[in-house]
Amino acid sequence: KSKESGKSNYHIYTSSMNIQTYKTFSLESGLRNAIELNQFEFYYQPKVCSRTNQIVGVEALIRWNHPEWGLLSPDEFIPLAEEIGLIAEIGKWVKYQACSQNKAWQDAGLPAIPISINISPLRFLEKNLVKNIISVLEETKLDPEYLEIEITETSVLENEKVVLSTLDELKSIGVRISLDDFGTGYSSLSYLKLFKGRINALKIDRSFIKDLSEKDPDGSNFITKTIIELAQHLKMNVVAEGVENTEQLQILKHYNCETIQGYLFSKPVPADEFAVLLGKGKIEVSGNHAHDTKN
Ligand code: C2E
Ligand code: MG
Ligand code: MG
Ligand code: MG
Repeated sequence: KSKESGKSNYHIYTSSMNIQTYKTFSLESGLRNAIELNQFEFYYQPKVCSRTNQIVGVEALIRWNHPEWGLLSPDEFIPLAEEIGLIAEIGKWVKYQACSQNKAWQDAGLPAIPISINISPLRFLEKNLVKNIISVLEETKLDPEYLEIEITETSVLENEKVVLSTLDELKSIGVRISLDDFGTGYSSLSYLKLFKGRINALKIDRSFIKDLSEKDPDGSNFITKTIIELAQHLKMNVVAEGVENTEQLQILKHYNCETIQGYLFSKPVPADEFAVLLGKGKIEVSGNHAHDTKN
């Protein structure tokens, strides 16, 4: 009997308030206090040299430890944060946390590598961005060459003049820039001319990497190879995102893609686990087996 009534309660609940509506409501109200309550956390994913297997960089990826909904990925709350005007505050946390964590690893004697953070397209156009970055670098005492900003093509389309001058200012202070999710945006190739000398690296989007295979049924290999050559001509570094297996790795090595990021080497991991990886310096991948999938 009690089972029955439980069931009908559930029906009343779902019909009066859709679970997704409730979640959005709950996230929106929680987001306002998430920084104060220390609920954000970075997970760190290594960027690995394809020749030496050495860790050459790290990307800091934000997570929200939500008391009710668990560990939330950025796709679940960054768009919401943008919508309700909290992205600037989160951005401040992101910059400070990444720089101070990287400095802490260096102070602990671990190899010095650049840390990348992702900047929302809208934020990239704000005029105090560079000023904020300079003050965070001063506050945390991190050398600017160990900070990298990842932006997407969308952010560079909006206002060419502002974007180019921001890129130049960042370059002049010594911060690196990479173009994230390359190949998925709407920018034309002519933009690349403007980026030459201003952007340090292109990150080939996972949608191309995912379909790499010996047979190349859809042209992903050819597109990937072309992006790598393009980057080399423009004197940019190139990073393959989302590399999950050794077949993809072999193809990328064959095309001379210098940097690899993906589950094959490591999923994004908490700070203490990343420190262990960085301490070892190299990550070996075992044979043809998919990398361990715990976490
Ligand atoms: P992104 O910058 O392109 O980051 C790469 C995403 O791919 C990450 O998802 C990462 O966990 C995932 N990934 C890495 N290797 C693999 C792989 O081998 N296979 C698969 N299937 N996925 C892989 P995540 O952490 O969920 O982040 C999603 C997006 O959220 C990021 O895309 C970035 O655009 C944004 N984001 C992350 N952190 C921040 C942040 O602090 N601020 C802002 N504004 N956006 C952020
Ligand atoms: Mg990124
Ligand atoms: Mg990406
Ligand atoms: Mg992305």
